[in-house]
Amino acid sequence: MTAFTPSSAWADASTAAPPDDPLLSDERCDLAIVGGGILGLCAGLHAARQGLSVRVVDAARVGDRASGLNGGQVIAGFKYDPDWLIQHFGDKRGTALATFGASMPDAVFGLIEREKLDVPRQATGWIQAAHSKTALMATEDRAKQWIARGVPAKILSADDVAQVTGAQGYLGGWLDPRGGAIQPFAYTRELARIALAAGVRIAENTRIVRLRRENSAWALETADGKTLRATSVIVATNAYADGLIPGLARTLVPLHSFQIATEPLPSSVLAKILPGDQVVSDSRRIVIYYRKGPDNRMLIGGRGSMAEPTHPKAWAHLEHALKRLYPALANVKIEKRWYGRVAVTLDHLPHVHEPEPGLMIAAGCQGRGVGLMTALAPRLVDYLASRDPEHIPLPITQIRPIPFHAFRNIGVGAAIAWYRLIDMMER
Ligand SMILES: Cc1cc2nc3c(=O)[nH]c(=O)nc-3n(C[C@H](O)[C@H](O)[C@H](O)COP(=O)(O)OP(=O)(O)OC[C@H]3O[C@@H](n4cnc5c(N)ncnc54)[C@H](O)[C@@H]3O)c2cc1C
Repeated sequence: MTAFTPSSAWADASTAAPPDDPLLSDERCDLAIVGGGILGLCAGLHAARQGLSVRVVDAARVGDRASGLNGGQVIAGFKYDPDWLIQHFGDKRGTALATFGASMPDAVFGLIEREKLDVPRQATGWIQAAHSKTALMATEDRAKQWIARGVPAKILSADDVAQVTGAQGYLGGWLDPRGGAIQPFAYTRELARIALAAGVRIAENTRIVRLRRENSAWALETADGKTLRATSVIVATNAYADGLIPGLARTLVPLHSFQIATEPLPSSVLAKILPGDQVVSDSRRIVIYYRKGPDNRMLIGGRGSMAEPTHPKAWAHLEHALKRLYPALANVKIEKRWYGRVAVTLDHLPHVHEPEPGLMIAAGCQGRGVGLMTALAPRLVDYLASRDPEHIPLPITQIRPIPFHAFRNIGVGAAIAWYRLIDMMER
């Protein structure tokens, strides 16, 4: 029997890979960026346009990790609603956070437009569909908070949700017109293309294994013994954080998000699914998200096992979810199965750290990094240049490892099973 290899529905895209520019000897630059996902590439682009010499170094290939594998949903805001942010952080920071959250979709769609990126996209809206009465109240409240701030959001009844999604079983929800979808692999590769054009140099398949202060510079050592020296560093390793920054990986609960894509569907079937081309996340504790994808395929994603999946059965829960939502798809073939790593924090907010001046870290997107990291990247660069805290909407916090982090796999696995059970009982 041949070994099973996950394959993403996005990677078929013909977007060219950036030419690799390995570190052949020791080098020096103004800004070194560890991680070539959306955050690293957007930060590199912005810094190069400010006239800095920039090196992006990634342990994998551009597009091979979360930024190129995700669901491509472009979502405004954080897990928390504007009123909560203001109550929790006070008027000034809370309002700044809500405003920043609201700006995330524009950051993505605006960049694509301005830079003429070859990225399939739909700014057609994001639907949050409520699976329970409690969730319905929460989604209505969330919509009302944004409506009060001038967003033309719509509160959806059960019938409305059935109509706009074609899916069964929801009690209602809301439609956020700011959101939408992109092709994430094309987006990441296109970011690399324009970053290169701006002068950024990208080394792929190069792991940074050590970072140390060396007089006025940072020295980044690669696994094959080269040293990159830089005035400033951004660590953009997110859910793939390793031991490079002591304690960082232990501040994050890395989860696997799994996705499946159907075979290409006939247009008669597709016409009844998401006729307005919106994307959907539901309100479950273990969120299910779905959309139409490339080649007329239907895509659905959600949490998966922490163990590396080795068999298609590891995606069976998503096949069940697809059939539950769209009984008409009960017999379609699933042609693609893939997964990536998502970083969740205990407070469900992204974290920004500055362990020492000139070293910035951002991580913990809770599965919403497409808009978030696109919008945050230029702000990290501007902060490094000016040290003006106004650039960073989030508080800059210390790296605080989660106690008993070593047991996270057992704990997370049990928590996921428990939350799935509650989600099912609430139906
Ligand atoms: C399956 C899936 C579905 C998702 N769906 C959505 C969605 O629909 N909408 C949304 O907004 N978000 C979604 N997300 C989250 C989103 O993809 C991420 O938040 C976002 O891509 C993070 O970007 P990033 O640049 O911070 O990190 P990443 O894209 O994870 O990049 C980090 C990079 O750091 C590199 N790296 C790590 N350690 C080192 C080292 N020591 N040296 C060199 N390089 C290193 C890694 O190789 C990696 O390429 C999803 C994520 C997954 C996995």
